[in-house]
Amino acid sequence: MYETIIIGAGIAGLTAAMYASRKKMNYEVFGKEFGGQFQVSGEVLNYPGIVKTTGVDFMMIMQEQMKFNQVNVKPETVKEIQKQGENFKVITDKGEYETETVIIASGSFARKLNVPGEAEFDKKGVTYCSVCDGPLFKQKPVIVIGGGDSAMEAVDFMKNISSHTTMLVRGPELKGHKYLMENIQKLENLEIIYNAETTEILGDKFATGLKYKVGDEEHQLDAEGIIVEIGRIPTTDFVKDFVELDDHQHIVVDCQGHTNIPGIFAAGDCASGHEYQYVLAAGQGCMSLLKAARYLAGKQRK
Ligand code: NDP
Repeated sequence: MYETIIIGAGIAGLTAAMYASRKKMNYEVFGKEFGGQFQVSGEVLNYPGIVKTTGVDFMMIMQEQMKFNQVNVKPETVKEIQKQGENFKVITDKGEYETETVIIASGSFARKLNVPGEAEFDKKGVTYCSVCDGPLFKQKPVIVIGGGDSAMEAVDFMKNISSHTTMLVRGPELKGHKYLMENIQKLENLEIIYNAETTEILGDKFATGLKYKVGDEEHQLDAEGIIVEIGRIPTTDFVKDFVELDDHQHIVVDCQGHTNIPGIFAAGDCASGHEYQYVLAAGQGCMSLLKAARYLAGKQRK
């Protein structure tokens, strides 16, 4: 019987695991891929105490920090959580584990356009990760779809890689941090097209461009790289019939990470809050672990 099981190895889950380890709790942390969003982040300029880093460099420091704190991530995928009296059974693709509390920090995944051609040219010119795949489009024309911070970061990342970048923004303006808007508005090899709705990805063996509409007018654009950055969807399908979710499929939590089920906590991008910042995910990971420990102490006093 574990005291807690942490689901997810992004910054929220790893912070919870680090605290669990330092408290010498009997715990396990499950995660298919170490680092979560770090794997796909470009520059990180807003984490307190770190002036400037990249997602990959941050992930490497986290790896060292986990080693120092003897945190070992089990590469298993959680399929289901079941209630067993006061405790819980966590079922993964490799086994079943009993635990007194669970911290769900399962993160989120890239939202898709859901247009013809998108699936066909996925990884054949269409990507959801500029940092991973952007360098493949060296000196090639690229389209970035999206008008939020992630899309602006992708444009900024591509500034010295692509020959030219076109940004297709669905709405009438960019939404996000002012510093990112200022960064990209200085770029000479960037064109921004507003009110543009992508309708189809075109290609042969690889993507060659796309069709989009502005109002009723149809247009076509050529590009070798199409970077889709249109937000993220929380990874909560595996608990959708177990804990309360909000309208956007985030797990409903209070400001201490409690869900509607005593003993089940949630932190990071999968939880309600909708701000998606590393510093918040780390804080929520810490909070949920501390509250899980308090919950266990309360149980023992009974
Ligand atoms: P957002 O949800 O903020 O923005 C998504 C963008 O994609 C919007 O412009 C939206 O348009 C557009 N979009 C959604 N669906 C479609 C579609 N089907 N076709 C075309 N466009 C579409 O997502 P982000 O990933 O940009 O950001 C998520 C969160 O992470 C935010 O809170 C952001 O602040 C944060 N973040 C912070 C960073 C930082 O601090 N440096 C870096 C990256 C992200 P519409 O407005 O029309 O819905």
